[in-house]
Amino acid sequence: MTSITIYGGLSTIGGNCILIEENDTRIMLDNGMCFSKENLYYKDFLNPRTNNALRDYLELGLVPKIPGIYGKDKIKDVCLDTMDLESQYLFEHSLKSYEEYLRETGKPFISALFITHAHLDHFRNIKFMAPEIPIYCSKITKKLLAIVSDLSQENFLKYSYYEIKERSGGFFPGCTYKDKLYQKRDIKIANPNKKVRVPEDDPIFEVEGFPVDHSIPGAMAFQITTISGKRIIYSGDIRFHGHKHEKENSLQFLNNIEPIPELFIVEGTRISDNDQVSEKEVSHRMIALLKNDRNLHSKLIFVTFPWKSISRFLTVYKVAEALNRSLIIQPKLAYTIHHLKGFNSLKLGDILEKENIKIYLPRKYSMTYSKADYVYSKYNLSPHVDWDNEQEIDFYNCLYEDDILVRAYDIRNNPSHYIFHLNFYELNELIDIQPPKGSYFFNLKTEPFDEEGELEEKVLLSWISKFNLDYKKEHYHASGHAPEIHIREMINKVNPTLIIPVHTENSEWFSKNFGNTLILEQGTSYNF
Ligand SMILES: [Zn+2]
Ligand SMILES: [Zn+2]
Repeated sequence: MTSITIYGGLSTIGGNCILIEENDTRIMLDNGMCFSKENLYYKDFLNPRTNNALRDYLELGLVPKIPGIYGKDKIKDVCLDTMDLESQYLFEHSLKSYEEYLRETGKPFISALFITHAHLDHFRNIKFMAPEIPIYCSKITKKLLAIVSDLSQENFLKYSYYEIKERSGGFFPGCTYKDKLYQKRDIKIANPNKKVRVPEDDPIFEVEGFPVDHSIPGAMAFQITTISGKRIIYSGDIRFHGHKHEKENSLQFLNNIEPIPELFIVEGTRISDNDQVSEKEVSHRMIALLKNDRNLHSKLIFVTFPWKSISRFLTVYKVAEALNRSLIIQPKLAYTIHHLKGFNSLKLGDILEKENIKIYLPRKYSMTYSKADYVYSKYNLSPHVDWDNEQEIDFYNCLYEDDILVRAYDIRNNPSHYIFHLNFYELNELIDIQPPKGSYFFNLKTEPFDEEGELEEKVLLSWISKFNLDYKKEHYHASGHAPEIHIREMINKVNPTLIIPVHTENSEWFSKNFGNTLILEQGTSYNF
């Protein structure tokens, strides 16, 4: 018998977590953060206590309560046994850890996790999962996990745990403290056109990944075939309106899968929306508007979009070329492009070597542009963050053109030379740049739901108004998700026995339009 259980991503956008089971063997598809749930309890400086490991998340129901997948250190504190009986409840949760489950049953609860793409709402919870669980994703997604780990406080390639140590000196010698240690995760590559067998030695599942078009590179859909011959297709997040080389992936996915699977787990983020703006149209519309402005020569052009969106970068680069301006990108985007440029499928080539690409250098620490200001944010100066005193540092201006790094005063002096990529958390830079009045600000990132966190548009608009910028949002956004018409066409082409909608706030649309829609309860298994 085969069964499916959905633990996250039902009637909400993101936080997908799907379990497929046959012969007492299971695989998981995605395990992501659910923004809408976390926003119910947390805001601004009120956050889950990271030092309390997984326990805050479990108590509030912010991660799926699945036994046998999370590391023992995340559920029971390393100090538990040394604590008084009355305080022990503070250091444990009743959920069974990976290790406990393995000890009791002789096999792990899940044999592998497959991640569709590197958006937090699809992979964040891997940080709690036992490092022994094999994780499969595309080569680009694995690289993006490394990039995200380099650029943030969180290392998704490693599992963290603690050991108790005793202080030898300083304040309070003899007192215990927790020493943080790391274990490498087992992240494997799911190559297109190559089936992954799970478990490797006695396979129950064969999983095949298909590259698809989405707002982040490396996204995949998966086709799972079980040993009893059942087939499940999972779209992940998908669209059909990226650049030509991107949308072809989604079309090939539909052409290459076998139709009529038992189940089609399909995303429906924009199911109530029929706007069909493509990446190409965004650049055309921007160019048309800007070329029509007779005063453009005195204006700076700002664009905001997520730094992981290579697709949107290519769109804006086309605009820069058409207007004969240089595109200044944020350091995190430059870091990402440098590390992804070897993937030919992304069509990045030697783009960082081009004269019309610049990288913004923000002021930090002493605020004097001293190199020493960047030792805690090395990515601002270099595409490598493992600096070594003994070795020369690969600064961007050594690897690429020597004037690739651009400072605020360069932009202030020559606003008409540039298109400037500026994101929400960098709005302070406007104070240094002093843009000419009436400069454009294109918001190219808004989704019905922003997968990288809530967009603080109210705050953004205060900045826009303070600096007298011309705000453009409608008509200039291509979504990362397929509109209704494309979802409908995709379902017709896949022609599944049953449809399970996920990553949507409108499951009713599926029930209304397709009689074979199955609406599941969270955590309740369905046998097929
Ligand atoms: Zn998503
Ligand atoms: Zn996504």
